[in-house]
Amino acid sequence: MTALRTLVVVLGDQLDRQSSAFDGFDPTCDAVWMAEVAEESSHVWSAKQRIALFLAAMRHFAAALRSDGIPLHYTRLDGPESATSLAAELRATIARLNPQRLVMRAPGDWRVYQSIRQVAADAGLTLEVREDRQFFGTVREFAAHAKGRKTLRLEYFYRELRQRHDVLMHEGKPIGGQWNFDAENRAAFGPHGPGALPPPPRFEPDAITREVIEFVDKRFADHPGTLARFAWPVTRAQALEALERFVSQRLPHFGRYQDAMWPGEPWLYHSLLSSSMNLGLLGAQEVVRAAEAAFHAGLAPLQSVEGFVRQILGWREYVRGIYWTRMPAYLELNELDAQEPLPDWYWTGATDMACLHDAITQTLAHGYAHHIQRLMVTGLYALMLGVQPKQVHAWYLAVYVDAVEWVELPNTLGMSQYADGGVMGSKPYIATGKYIERMGGQHCAGCRYDPALREGDSACPFTTLYWDFLLRHEARLVKNPRMALQVKNLARLDAAQRRAVTERAQALRTQPNQPR
Ligand SMILES: Cc1cc2nc3c(=O)[nH]c(=O)nc-3n(C[C@H](O)[C@H](O)[C@H](O)COP(=O)(O)OP(=O)(O)OC[C@H]3O[C@@H](n4cnc5c(N)ncnc54)[C@H](O)[C@@H]3O)c2cc1C
Ligand code: SF4
Repeated sequence: MTALRTLVVVLGDQLDRQSSAFDGFDPTCDAVWMAEVAEESSHVWSAKQRIALFLAAMRHFAAALRSDGIPLHYTRLDGPESATSLAAELRATIARLNPQRLVMRAPGDWRVYQSIRQVAADAGLTLEVREDRQFFGTVREFAAHAKGRKTLRLEYFYRELRQRHDVLMHEGKPIGGQWNFDAENRAAFGPHGPGALPPPPRFEPDAITREVIEFVDKRFADHPGTLARFAWPVTRAQALEALERFVSQRLPHFGRYQDAMWPGEPWLYHSLLSSSMNLGLLGAQEVVRAAEAAFHAGLAPLQSVEGFVRQILGWREYVRGIYWTRMPAYLELNELDAQEPLPDWYWTGATDMACLHDAITQTLAHGYAHHIQRLMVTGLYALMLGVQPKQVHAWYLAVYVDAVEWVELPNTLGMSQYADGGVMGSKPYIATGKYIERMGGQHCAGCRYDPALREGDSACPFTTLYWDFLLRHEARLVKNPRMALQVKNLARLDAAQRRAVTERAQALRTQPNQPR
């Protein structure tokens, strides 16, 4: 038997046959290692949809490798020797196979990277970490961009990447004469709602996925959510179909309704592509190029395509840079010294606040909520309530099918909770219930609270907490020019009104909420 030259480590979010980890792969002397381990579903609490998606996608990828004749060492979670951690399983495999070196694509997760490095070092093996080609840029490029800047802002980084990669550019200038169309991307649906929406692609579970669903339902029975409606893409072919369906059916309206919400409508015009990209089934470049091609073919307006491109070429690359240049210290940040526990009903949706009930129940049913629901409903409430950022982070990492730490953490700790003190965004995103009323269609009409009220039993908790947040952080916020106007409005509140706000906010923190 030939000695094993290279053991290629493939993690659950690296399911890409074109990955740099396979460069120079020789099936006669190299092999692939993959492992399902309990630690990845339980080091943080993880919802059933998320566990099932990872396992189903990994098993489909493994089946494709085998049918291509790639030697594969794969440990199943339901197998006889299932390991408790990636490190333990990799150690055991190295001891058994005695490879000359390890090769892998740069991991997404800091914790996982440290543990694999440690295993390689303990075994005296070289670990070759190769660039992740599914992104436009590299972490090194981001670090170079960040160097010497007092503050980081998405906009400048995004412009640099558009120029460097020639995306929506013409003769060195942005197509349409401006870099972004934000102002045109904030429409709500109006009183009659979104009307008929293009249905999202559903991928009926095949035998492999059905087996995973059955297993997850049993082994992780007490984890949040349900699998009754599991329909996420689990193969590259399905992810490509989802991309094609999005570009042809929903991209034309994506930009305009990017921030809108509507009760009972989880998908609207969103792409639902984050999980496929984060698993490695799709690369950011092909997704952006497909959207750009739709614009050039006259199939989607510039404002929609630019809005979509900005999310991926802009935000997605930007948060990756922040994560990898700031970890591990980033995880510990708590700029506002928020110490409240996360309310229990975040895990069940049992709250009488209609917008939160809707966002959380859909999250538990599908493992999905779109960006504005995450930022301006669940995230906003936790921020203004004063929940400890690590607990908010644990929730977001658990409940979404696209949740992987490198993208979830900066979005949660930074963008949503302002726990990084302004690295991700220049100010805390805070708003009253009126914002949700404006963007959320009929949520408020069906709610027992009134978004216009700040005090009293019918006051919208968002509105009360908004004023309470300003009061609690007035000294800090007054120094932020982008918050000046909001802080100035505090002068409208007399002492009795301030006291009423503080007391009601405190009651919201101490009383369990009433289920709907
Ligand atoms: C508190 C919070 C937590 C989040 N956690 C995650 C997470 O764990 N994983 C994740 O992929 N996204 C996360 N996001 C970003 C964003 O909400 C999701 O990417 C998006 O909702 C996924 O749905 P979609 O594919 O339909 O996206 P679309 O609305 O169709 O957007 C297109 C794509 O742009 C990318 N994108 C959009 N916004 C962001 C962003 N802020 N940061 C990075 N990429 C972005 C995604 O890849 C997405 O698929 C989080 C946002 C917030 C506010
Ligand atoms: S009134 Fe307040 S709690 Fe109720 S749906 Fe509107 S914003 Fe949400």
